[in-house]
This record gives sequence, structure tokens and C-alpha cells, in this order.
Amino acid sequence: MRFWELIARIYCLFLGKMAEWPSGEARVIIVKRLLPTWAAAQTWGRIIFIKGAYARSDKLISHEKIHIDQWKKRGFFFPFVYFWLMLKSAKKNGFKKAYHEHPYEVEARDKSGH
Ligand SMILES: [Zn+2]
Repeated sequence: MRFWELIARIYCLFLGKMAEWPSGEARVIIVKRLLPTWAAAQTWGRIIFIKGAYARSDKLISHEKIHIDQWKKRGFFFPFVYFWLMLKSAKKNGFKKAYHEHPYEVEARDKSGH
């Protein structure tokens, strides 16, 4: 079993899988719940976990696909760097601003247009 397949199965175990389909090299999986609650989607490796309400949002999926490129470029350390940058900024600026100004989010918005 590939590493991300294992992560996907564990994720779905906790969050409840409703449907999934391929989208280019990505796999989109609808989950019943998604932690944290403020997020509409989360990307892990090449797998996009998305809340049902956003499942048909091409805009959101194209944004998440930029995060897939970021994972590919930065490899294993990507989530650690992502969360470290988030925490560092959130301590100073608050969570909302930290998310908005996060360099990976800025890049994803710039490249996807969303
Ligand atoms: Zn994002």
C-alpha cells in the first residue's frame, strides 16, 4: 500500500468517506467532517479531502491542486514547514491573518486565481 493510500484510509476512518473520484493526478475524497472546522478542504500528498458542500467547486479544487504541486516540490517536509510558518505567524498576527498571509496560501491563490 502506498503511503498516501494509508493516510487516506486513516483519514476517512475518522472523518467518514462519502465519495471519491480522480481529478487529473489528484484524488478527491468527500468527507463528512473535516477538522479543523474552518477549512473547506485539506490536501495531503496527492489526495484532496473536501467537505461535501464544496465537492463540486472547481475553484477550490484548482487551489488545492497548487498545494499538491507544493507537496511534490518540497516533499516530506512540506506539512511541517506549512504548520511551522502558520504557528509562527499566528502567534504574532492571529490565526486568520496568518492563514491569509501564509506564503503557500498566497502562492496557491496567485496560481489558481482562487
Ligand atoms: Zn490553501
